[in-house]
Amino acid sequence: MKLLIVEDEASIAEVVIAYAKREGYETVYASDGLEALEIFRNDDIDLVVLDLMLPKLNGEEVCRRIREHSSVPVIMLTAKSSEADVVSGLDTGANDYVSKPFSPRVLMARIRAQLRPRESRDSIASGLCADGRIEIDPERVELRKDGVPVPVTKSEFLIFSTLASRPIRTWSREEIIRTALGDDYDGFDRTIDTYIKNLRKKLAEPGHENGWIKTVYGFGYRLDDEK
Ligand code: CA
Repeated sequence: MKLLIVEDEASIAEVVIAYAKREGYETVYASDGLEALEIFRNDDIDLVVLDLMLPKLNGEEVCRRIREHSSVPVIMLTAKSSEADVVSGLDTGANDYVSKPFSPRVLMARIRAQLRPRESRDSIASGLCADGRIEIDPERVELRKDGVPVPVTKSEFLIFSTLASRPIRTWSREEIIRTALGDDYDGFDRTIDTYIKNLRKKLAEPGHENGWIKTVYGFGYRLDDEK
């Protein structure tokens, strides 16, 4: 998981980056609003920690522009804390709001909460994927192939819908665990291989022996979708 930290005060940015790394996140850093957008466009960012008062382009505008193209979670970080400012921050499309001075541990908890899958979250894919053959139904926690329910466990469902949420992206085992199964998962990375094996067994057919799940050797898995 890669976080974009946007903050013009170096001392605050350093603390956030240090805590994020300890949590196992990759980090990229921008010190103004334009740099933030430039990085966001060119990198594969999973979550943005965004200061409100920034040089060149303020956080609200950065958030608004990110929202034109992406539903990535954005956590606003700001000295402003009046109710009106919170409302206006959330109106621009921020997912959460942390007021300065803040506890880095609280910020990390908010980050984890945003990256954790919830059935109502849009990071859980819904609708058709796999060349339109497989339907993901988050309401019922069900996969249907050609309209016929495929008996999958909740973990298998969450793993498949995580892959489908960003079809061109390759996911490492650790990312799949963190995104699909959450922090309280205590198995090993390689346990993912067993889940994938089971999913393939349930979804496979001639011509799609891999059940639309492609192995990317030395890295992880991605959804094998033509579209
Ligand atoms: Ca600032």
